[in-house]
Amino acid sequence: AHLDRIAAVDGEVRAFLHVDRDTTLAQAREVDRRRAAGEDLGPLAGVPIAHKDVFTTRDMPTTAGSKILEGWRPPYDSTVTARLRARGLVILGKTNMDEFAMGSSTENSAFGPSHNPWDLRRVPGGSSGGSSAAVAAYQAPLSTGTDTGGSIRQPAAVTGIVGMKPTYGGSSRYGVIAFASSLDTPGPFARNVLDAALLHEVFSGHDAMDSTSVDAPVPPVVEAARRADVNGLRVGVVKQFAGEGAEPGVAARFDEAVELLESLGAKVVEVSCPHFSYALSAYYLIAPSEASSNLARFDAMRYGLRVGDDGTRSAEEVMALTRAEGFGPEVKRRIMLGTYALSSGYYDAYYGKAQQVRTLVKRDFDTAFEQVDVLVSPTTPTTAFPIGERVDDPMAMYLADLYTIPANLTGNAAISVPCGLADGLPVGLQIMAPVLGDDRAYRVAAAVER
Ligand code: GLN
Repeated sequence: AHLDRIAAVDGEVRAFLHVDRDTTLAQAREVDRRRAAGEDLGPLAGVPIAHKDVFTTRDMPTTAGSKILEGWRPPYDSTVTARLRARGLVILGKTNMDEFAMGSSTENSAFGPSHNPWDLRRVPGGSSGGSSAAVAAYQAPLSTGTDTGGSIRQPAAVTGIVGMKPTYGGSSRYGVIAFASSLDTPGPFARNVLDAALLHEVFSGHDAMDSTSVDAPVPPVVEAARRADVNGLRVGVVKQFAGEGAEPGVAARFDEAVELLESLGAKVVEVSCPHFSYALSAYYLIAPSEASSNLARFDAMRYGLRVGDDGTRSAEEVMALTRAEGFGPEVKRRIMLGTYALSSGYYDAYYGKAQQVRTLVKRDFDTAFEQVDVLVSPTTPTTAFPIGERVDDPMAMYLADLYTIPANLTGNAAISVPCGLADGLPVGLQIMAPVLGDDRAYRVAAAVER
């Protein structure tokens, strides 16, 4: 049914980069066979899922939204896709994304933008916009994304679905094409909080293949989503993010969500996080710095595209030609920014300073969680914007992640849950929780979900 739905609507939504009916149906038959043989595959066996095209998959291509990886076939599965396969989830296909996950709209994809199912002239958010669009358009009941600065929560918010950034290290980065390794966090998309929790639980947990993987039990997220109450919980409204910067419709839905929390028995207090306002600036030094290093591996030799290798050119020339043609403008911008910020003479002033700001943001969270159990804010300052509106204005694009980035810098858990419409477009409520307090975010999200 989902393959049929994809065939019917993806010409317009363009959520998918790769769909292969035969491979999907073969996987489904294999799950049937394993079940018939008496294997206990758990609660999501047979459920179809779409994966962001940043997760390697051994039976499907993986492009990270870039021309530089066109035609590359990964020889192995990421931990996330492997674990989900092992538990009987069936892969519907690979979804569109901003190139190397750099962006907030999918307009930086080398393969053209995805469209928001609520209004096809608008963006579905990004960078995991194909995954959010697929779930919002009923092409898939579940999907995966990665969140480096907001790329799960922001697309979830603007397409009216649930998206969760787990605690950093709670989900494995093994086999996830790297953008900024100290920030990248795989997580789930679903149409309700319990579905997201079920998916979260299946792919999470320690992985020896990822050196930053947390060796701790998976927080009890499914139990928390089922519990769905906020009675007696202390909820902090981030002063710096309430109202300020958000458009009126978003601010109104946020205020109503806070009232709802109060009416459900939560104790709401205002909390000041004075350094959150600097998080965006620090992120745009740290993320490009790490990206400039990670993307050095695309050298025309190891993967995918190779340009100008006709026997007359040196390896260095082939590398330069390949990178010039294979990377899009936003990726080049980030490589230049990052190389500059890391260069000797500038390192302390830019990268070093940004890391200090990161520590201050962490202290804000620590102080806040001495007073409250969770923090709330709008997920994004605006609803879905029109395709094309921000492509020539990188600063406007970067602002889409104003509220989501603090939790990335510090590794905290954070979820986005729908909290109504503004001018007919979805608005998201962000709930931030302590490191390894993912269950708390689910508990509050499930309580306010309508
Ligand atoms: N929009 C942010 C960026 O462009 C975040 C992207 C992400 O989370 N992958 O870097």
